[in-house]
Amino acid sequence: DAKRSGKNCFRFYAREMNAQAAEMLRLDNSMPLGLANGDFYLHYQPQLDLKNDTVIAVEALLRWRHPELGMIPPDRFIPLAEDSGFIIKLGEWVLRTACMQCAEWQKNGPAPLRIAINVSGRQFSEPDFVDMVAAALSDSGLAPELLELELTESLLISNEQQALQKLQLLKNMGIFLAIDDFGTGYSSLAYLKHFPLDRLKIDKSFINDILSDPDDAAITEAIIAMGHSLKLKVIAEGVETREQLVFLEDRSCDEIQGYFLSKPLSEHDLHVFVTARLANKAVEESSH
Ligand code: C2E
Ligand code: MG
Ligand code: MG
Ligand code: MG
Repeated sequence: DAKRSGKNCFRFYAREMNAQAAEMLRLDNSMPLGLANGDFYLHYQPQLDLKNDTVIAVEALLRWRHPELGMIPPDRFIPLAEDSGFIIKLGEWVLRTACMQCAEWQKNGPAPLRIAINVSGRQFSEPDFVDMVAAALSDSGLAPELLELELTESLLISNEQQALQKLQLLKNMGIFLAIDDFGTGYSSLAYLKHFPLDRLKIDKSFINDILSDPDDAAITEAIIAMGHSLKLKVIAEGVETREQLVFLEDRSCDEIQGYFLSKPLSEHDLHVFVTARLANKAVEESSH
């Protein structure tokens, strides 16, 4: 009868939920050891300046190879690390590792590349976040203008006064500031003029359908126009085809990132990628 099957149903869900909770707990518990064992590493996805057709920056993207479970995507483990607070340690490791890597490119090539780092809300709201960034810069010797922090709209809105103060301190250090996943968060645009920002990153959900969905095309055009009138650079993420790139180029989007240019690469593969592009460019220029 219904009552009995309802009960069974509940048991089934409870068991499912327990399994899911156990899995999450297992992942969460294995993060500190994973960090100590070197199971976390960074990949770097190039960003292209459309005006000069030059790779000018990379975004650092965190990867976790779990010894038993294999690759765990960041969309799965970052929220867990946020909840447990481990994101503080993990985020500091990302920042320090990325700054050291970028300082190495600054010194030995293949080219000086700016590095963009994702910052989570919990990490940003730590009282000593700004000091931590300053320490990562001075310990690595990285020039501040080669560092960009990617923040989300919700992170800025949740505590506007505190966020404003921190952004001003970071801006005074010479760091670049970008809004990630722009267009998906809070729709209040008033905050844009209060914060000392440098770049808007149009969310890839809009880019995905710009050629087929007139609404997404209109939103993308509006973001570019608004960004430019606020003196911000605009970058599109998730660009997968030449047609998307041409659409964005025609509308004066400044930069693009996405599989069309390159997927996120290991340190070694990025070095090869940038070196090859520089060599191609030199050949093109000498043949003109
Ligand atoms: P995000 O910062 O918006 O990064 C862009 C995501 O889109 C990355 O996924 C990237 O690999 C993916 N992507 C790049 N180009 C394309 C494309 O052409 N098509 C498609 N479909 N996807 C593309 P990933 O590496 O899985 O990272 C997911 C999210 O995890 C990031 O989104 C970011 O919010 C978070 N994340 C990654 N690394 C870190 C980190 O070090 N710290 C923090 N707090 N969050 C991180
Ligand atoms: Mg990002
Ligand atoms: Mg994004
Ligand atoms: Mg995202």
